[in-house]
Amino acid sequence: MSDTFTALVIEEHEGKARSVFRQLRLADLPDDDVLVEVQYSALNYKDGLALSGNRNKVARSLPMVAGVDLAGTVIESRSPLWKAGDPVVLNGFGLSETHWGSFTRYQRVKAEWLLRLPDAFTPLQAMAIGTAGYTAALCVDVLERWGHAQPGRGQVLVTGAAGGVGSVAISLLAKCGYHVTASTGRPETHDYLRGLGASAFIDRATLQGPVRPLQRETWAGAVDSVGSTTLANVLAQMEYGAGAAACGLASGMDLPATVLPHILRSVALLGVDSVMAPMPARHAAWQRLARDLDPAHLEAITTVEPMSRLPELAGAILAGQVRGRVVIDVT
Ligand code: NDP
Repeated sequence: MSDTFTALVIEEHEGKARSVFRQLRLADLPDDDVLVEVQYSALNYKDGLALSGNRNKVARSLPMVAGVDLAGTVIESRSPLWKAGDPVVLNGFGLSETHWGSFTRYQRVKAEWLLRLPDAFTPLQAMAIGTAGYTAALCVDVLERWGHAQPGRGQVLVTGAAGGVGSVAISLLAKCGYHVTASTGRPETHDYLRGLGASAFIDRATLQGPVRPLQRETWAGAVDSVGSTTLANVLAQMEYGAGAAACGLASGMDLPATVLPHILRSVALLGVDSVMAPMPARHAAWQRLARDLDPAHLEAITTVEPMSRLPELAGAILAGQVRGRVVIDVT
């Protein structure tokens, strides 16, 4: 183990947040119970926000090591939950918000935040899934619990289809036998999305027009990572009694909707948070991923990039230019 290692740190500079590569020592890390050697991290939309300087609303205190996802190996543990050599995954729990994050070779974290790396996945594959993919699994779980959408009956809509959440959601839903319609603004991704299991497509612009409160009942279920007018239109198009799992705000955090779909059609808006999701929900989501996510799909979704490219990749994910998932090699 070398004395110093590289980390991407958000710092305050002349009253603004900026991200800088710094050399850290183990003694610089937080005093938590488990020291992890990080093998891979991943790029998430939230990382784009955190690394984007004046749009940074993610890090609550500075300096902050960025990065919300890690897969690696336990090096030292003061907790009986973990021992040296254990392979682990961590998604969220405030990494890069209230606790130093994963764009670093080493990090100390709380023992109760870690999950054993599922046997089905290598550390690289776990990060190809990452927060976006595990959130997609949480969305499918919540739709199943809601119970209206049934495999083989009706269409389930996935918005932000070519992004991280969307890509994994399509693969999981199709594997379970749902008919999936993908909403994307990038027609050039149709072949990619068809390969993941989408059977129909709509142009995302059709969901961005004025919101009429009740529209033709079209969707038996939905996974939305876009928010704003898109989600409002989706809600207005849900079948009677259907549920929409909402997890994102790629288009905006507003929701210009009415209560009519909810009070006249019993439509449910099913909110999904991954950051503070309790352990049983995390285990269930990762079990679903291990069972249902086709390894060939995961490979098609994934690109691997070095940590040095993070600043430019952060801009690309905010601009909606990233397809699928980007794994970050922190070694
Ligand atoms: P990505 O950037 O990978 O995907 C977002 C997709 O949304 C894009 O690929 C694009 O899809 C679409 N999109 C982007 N900008 C716009 C726009 N202005 N209008 C309409 N559609 C747009 O991000 P992720 O999949 O990683 O995350 C998606 C969202 O989910 C983010 O807002 C993120 O913060 C949120 N999220 C929330 C979590 C939670 O715990 N609640 C966890 C993980 C993510 P296309 O090109 O196909 O149209």
